[in-house]
Amino acid sequence: MADAVSADGDTDGAGDGAPAAGRGEWYDVVVVGGGAAGLSGALALARARRAVLVVDGGQPRNAPAAHVHNYLSRDGAAPSELLAAGRAEVTGYGGRIISGSVASAVRLDDQDGIGGFRVALTDGSSVHARRLLVATGLVDELPDVPGVAERWGRDVLHCPYCHGWEVRDQAIGVLATGPMAAHQAQLFRQVSADVTLFLHTEPEPGAEESERLAARGINVVRGEVVSLEVTGDHLSGVRLASGQVVPRQAVVVGPRFNARADVGASLGLATTELRVAGQVIGTYVPTDPTGATAVPGVWAAGNVTDLMAQVIGAAAAGLMVGAAVNADLIAEDIARAVAAYRNPSPVAAEPISV
Ligand SMILES: Cc1cc2nc3c(=O)[nH]c(=O)nc-3n(C[C@H](O)[C@H](O)[C@H](O)COP(=O)(O)OP(=O)(O)OC[C@H]3O[C@@H](n4cnc5c(N)ncnc54)[C@H](O)[C@@H]3O)c2cc1C
Repeated sequence: MADAVSADGDTDGAGDGAPAAGRGEWYDVVVVGGGAAGLSGALALARARRAVLVVDGGQPRNAPAAHVHNYLSRDGAAPSELLAAGRAEVTGYGGRIISGSVASAVRLDDQDGIGGFRVALTDGSSVHARRLLVATGLVDELPDVPGVAERWGRDVLHCPYCHGWEVRDQAIGVLATGPMAAHQAQLFRQVSADVTLFLHTEPEPGAEESERLAARGINVVRGEVVSLEVTGDHLSGVRLASGQVVPRQAVVVGPRFNARADVGASLGLATTELRVAGQVIGTYVPTDPTGATAVPGVWAAGNVTDLMAQVIGAAAAGLMVGAAVNADLIAEDIARAVAAYRNPSPVAAEPISV
C-alpha cells in the first residue's frame, strides 16, 4: 500500500483531499501500464504526494530488443534495466506498483460528490480511482511472413533510430507492406550502402520514386517474399516465391501500430485510425495537448496515443500528463475545500456540550 493512501480512504497525501471511506481501496490515480510513459506519470504523481497505483502487465513493446537506444544518458541500457530503475523511483516516493492486467473500468455515480472509477483487474480484484492514466502502449502487428515474428527486435527491425547504428554497413532488406516502405529504405540507406527494397505484395513505385531509389543505389526486387532464411541464430536471407534467396543480414518491416486501448472500451474510450497516403498504418487514442482523452477523468500517454513516441518521448509525455492530472485533481480539491469552507458541516459547527 502506498504511504499516501490513508486507512480512512483519504487519498490525498496532504490530508485535505477526497473521499471515500467504506468504498474499497482508493487511489487518486490508477495508472494502467508500467512502461516508460506510465512509470514517468506515476513518478510525477507520487512526488506530488498523490496516491498512485500502477498496474502493469509486464509486456513493454521493446521487450524483444536487447538494448534501448537514443535515451540520453541511458543509451544501450537493457529495457528491463531502465524499467527496474523507474519502478524503484516510483516506489521510493510511495507509489504502489502491482503486476497484473486491468480488464475494464467503469465510472461510479457521482451522487456523493465522489465519482471516479472502479478498475477491475483480470484476477477478479478491483480498486477505485479518481482519475485514470492509460499508458498501455501499442501492439506491433507484423507482416505475416514466416521468420518475421521469430526474429522481431533482433534482426527484423522497423526503426532506424532504435537499431540503425547496430546494422550499419550490413546487407539490409526492406519488406514492403505499405506506403512507407520506400521511405524506410531511404532511412536505412543512411546507415548502409547495401539496401534492397523487396516489393513483395506492394505495387511498382512510380517514376519519381524509382528515380529517388536508383539515385541512392537502392536495389528494387520484385516478387512475393515467402520466408526469411535463418542460419544458426542469424538472419541470412530473404526467400522469394520464385525460390531465389537474396542474402540479407537484417530485414526492415513496417508493422501496423495498434493502440492497446481495450481497457477503456467500457468507458467509451475510442481509437482513431492513422492514415498515410490513404492507407491505415495504425490506431491511437486521441487526446488534447495535456493528454486528456474525450472521456472525462481519463488521460493517456505514450504509444497508446502517440504511435511514434520512442522511450524518452513516452517518458516525457508521462511526466507532462502526470502533471496535468495532478493539476486537474487540485482543481477538484479546491472546489471541494471551498464548498466545505462555505458550508461547514453541522456536526463541525455545533458547539461541543460537556
Ligand atoms: C523491437 C523494438 C525496439 C525498440 N527499441 C527502441 C529503442 O532502442 N529506443 C527507443 O527509444 N524506443 C524503442 N522502441 C520503442 C519503445 O518500445 C516505445 O517507445 C516504448 O515502449 C513506449 O513506451 P510506453 O510506456 O508507451 O509503452 P510500453 O513500453 O509498451 O508499456 C506499456 C505497458 O503497459 C502494459 N499493459 C498493456 N495493457 C495493460 C493492461 N490492460 N493492464 C495492465 N498493463 C497493461 C504492458 O504490459 C506494458 O508493460 C522499440 C520498439 C520495438 C518494437
